[in-house]
Amino acid sequence: MGNDGSNLPEEIVRAIRQVVGEGDKALHEPVFKGREWDYLKECLDSGYVSSVGEFVTRFERALEEYTGAAHAIAVVNGTAALHIALLLAGVEADDEVLVPALGFIATANAVSYCGALPHFVDCEPLGLGVDAARLRDYLGDIAARRNGVCVNRKTGRVIRALVPVHLFGHISDMDALLAVAEEYGLRVIEDAAEALGSVRHGRHAGTWGQLGILSFNGNKIITTGGGGAILTDDEKLAARARHLTTTAKEPHPWRYRHDEVGYNFRMPNINAALGYAQLEQLPAFLQVKRRLFSRYEEAFSPLSGLRLLEEPGGCRSNYWLQTLVLNEDMAAWQEQILEHAWKQGLMLRPAWELLNRQIPYRHMPSMPVVVAESLQQRIINLPSGVVQEAAHE
Ligand SMILES: *Cc1c(COP(=O)(O)O)cnc(C)c1O
Repeated sequence: MGNDGSNLPEEIVRAIRQVVGEGDKALHEPVFKGREWDYLKECLDSGYVSSVGEFVTRFERALEEYTGAAHAIAVVNGTAALHIALLLAGVEADDEVLVPALGFIATANAVSYCGALPHFVDCEPLGLGVDAARLRDYLGDIAARRNGVCVNRKTGRVIRALVPVHLFGHISDMDALLAVAEEYGLRVIEDAAEALGSVRHGRHAGTWGQLGILSFNGNKIITTGGGGAILTDDEKLAARARHLTTTAKEPHPWRYRHDEVGYNFRMPNINAALGYAQLEQLPAFLQVKRRLFSRYEEAFSPLSGLRLLEEPGGCRSNYWLQTLVLNEDMAAWQEQILEHAWKQGLMLRPAWELLNRQIPYRHMPSMPVVVAESLQQRIINLPSGVVQEAAHE
């Protein structure tokens, strides 16, 4: 179908309706069709709903088994997981941390909680991950490796770490990013908040860097209500993560002695009970999400002027949020498409405002983020919840 855009909003809504059926459709909602009630009852009956109890350990072991990480530490949310992971990676006050401009604000906020500054970098036009080649060129221009650390020659600050974000569940080009990090002495902390269930060359998201994090917020692929996890293969870092997230208390049955300023970030047992039931359903959720992608692919195939975001080569993505990318000459239609869809009860969402434009981060260092700027005006997320599939069963 030729397309000057004039009927694009209607065509897009029609295509989405083919997939999700009638009625109001949220972007993503949780599904509780497993053993949630059983485990929650077991948790309540045990009397342990808070920071002590078996479900946290069971959930952590199940996460380790599923992701292949040697250690998973369950915490109160993904942002707290990022905060602790950054501290564990050695991020200090006044450091800079490389963060993609196209992403959710939690990543930059966690950097700020460490007293460090996010330094924004651009993304790839196809896969949306941090663009490794352009990052290498940029660091060549502004940074130098001195005594094993990367120094920003303009600001004089240490650039301590890189946080790749696996947007919408698609894993960034980790081989290339790890090579740049190695070259410049950067620590790598993966923000895999959106990518539980995604693998690249058979390796799970969040297990490529020194540390990785997951989120189990209500809109993620599985939920604990609120929750997150730190992943690492390093036993010492794992022990320190447990210590820091449980108020840095020295182990003792009744004495309360703390050896540093710790955090009350451990996941409560009742949230872990929910998560344990959800994790059991993850393989089924992943299948549904792949089918949903195929349905959208089919429904959108007659339309021109746009593409559906596909998993990168070598990856098997969790397709957390289905993503439409308008062609550059169609960008002007983004607003009308959103408006038209919302009027019809379809709660589509544009990509986040770029982080380098958010009020707290306007004056932070940034490379030119031309690709992120362009994509931000062209991305539209589609209803992606596992419930959408129910319309077809
Ligand atoms: C959801 C999300 C987070 C934060 O997780 P919370 O559990 O909501 O704190 C961080 N980064 C990204 C990319 C996310 O999507």
